[in-house]
Amino acid sequence: MTKKKTDLEDIVSLAKRRGFIYQGSEVYGGISGFYDYGPFGVTLKRNITNLWWKMFVDGREDILGVDAAIIMNPKVWQASGHVDTFTDPLVECKNCNSRFRADKIDVSKCPNCGKSGTFGEAKMFNMMFKTNIGPIDSDDSIAYLRPETAQGIFTNYKNIVDTIYPDMPFGVAQIGKAFRNEISPRDFIFRVRELEQMEVEYFVHPDEWEKSFEKWRTDIYVWFKALGLDAAKIHELDVPDNDRAHYSKRTIDFEYEFPIGKEELMGLAYRTDFDLLNIQKATGKSMEYIQKGSNNKFIPHVIEPSFGLERVMMAVLAEAYTEDEINGDKRIYLKLPPELAPIKFCVSPLLKNKPELVKKAREIYVNLQKKYHNVMWDDNGNIGKRYRRQDEIGTPKCVVIDFDTLADDTVTVRDRDTTKQKRVSVKDL
Ligand code: ATP
Repeated sequence: MTKKKTDLEDIVSLAKRRGFIYQGSEVYGGISGFYDYGPFGVTLKRNITNLWWKMFVDGREDILGVDAAIIMNPKVWQASGHVDTFTDPLVECKNCNSRFRADKIDVSKCPNCGKSGTFGEAKMFNMMFKTNIGPIDSDDSIAYLRPETAQGIFTNYKNIVDTIYPDMPFGVAQIGKAFRNEISPRDFIFRVRELEQMEVEYFVHPDEWEKSFEKWRTDIYVWFKALGLDAAKIHELDVPDNDRAHYSKRTIDFEYEFPIGKEELMGLAYRTDFDLLNIQKATGKSMEYIQKGSNNKFIPHVIEPSFGLERVMMAVLAEAYTEDEINGDKRIYLKLPPELAPIKFCVSPLLKNKPELVKKAREIYVNLQKKYHNVMWDDNGNIGKRYRRQDEIGTPKCVVIDFDTLADDTVTVRDRDTTKQKRVSVKDL
């Protein structure tokens, strides 16, 4: 019997016990809204970003990559509107001093202490992390950790047009850290204070924005499919006027049925010429694009698909998490698409105290490792334990070397999803 619904605790617990995700600074008691990625977590994360880069940058002639600095000239955040409007409404309970985002709770009653009428007026709280540049801690030295990767793209738009002059439409993509001082980080890695974004700013002629928006809207499903996400669990929400970010004229949130409920996985926004126009106004430099083959000039409009890596990780883990029963015993495994699986093969000798088996197994391990890189050697515990461990890591195939291997050069290959075993010739591995 396969379990239907996955609880968040199941995922948190597996992620911890198998070395995917740890609480940030855990030995010091943790720190709210920050997480660390363990050996398998970091590989899963890399596999996701690599897949994204392959799909949206390397695999397309119309999208180029950049990698901008996290700390930018503070004028960026003035012009972009973040200093004035990147805020959430903060309320504080007068009874227990707990703080909440006013738009996420019922403010008539405190969710922490249960008292009614303890909240005053909401204060607007800016979510950008501040720091100072240089040795002097003054208002003039204030800088921000970027709250989105997008501005690192907009500020390089002119460099890219001046140096490379791509055909219109074209996109510029970036993967990198962003920081948001969220009032209430929650639900594991769903809402964190240090996150990673994968964003494309797609520059189009103003007349073409709708066409391009619709194309992105459908193209995104290819990405969801590559992640192994069930399309039936993805829902589009056309964000109403009053809920949209200050820069957007149209936004579709792609929501996923997470274990915590239906929540935003990523966003697709029409940012108009808001950002380029702001840069032009603030710097006095022209952001116009000259249409090739004519002298037609215009400031491009922008379609922005914005992906949050933590939410992708959480969706991928939730989708892959499976429980079934093997010979009456409960089994947990991660049904990850092979391209995402942190370990592709696990190689082990049936018995670790038989030097001839170990020697042969090492040979096979080294050869597979050369070819597939993410291959794991595991000779701990009995074979059943090793299978369970690899199931929870999501390793698609386990290769076991036994005495028959020495005789006929065949190995047992065991499949994660079916648990079926097959004899395979070493040369066919
Ligand atoms: P939310 O409404 O959940 O706060 P948002 O609409 O402000 O998110 P965007 O500014 O559109 O989010 O950011 C783009 C993407 O970045 C989101 O779809 C999400 O995947 C991710 N993201 C944003 N904030 C966080 C966060 N605090 N923790 C993890 N991921 C985040």
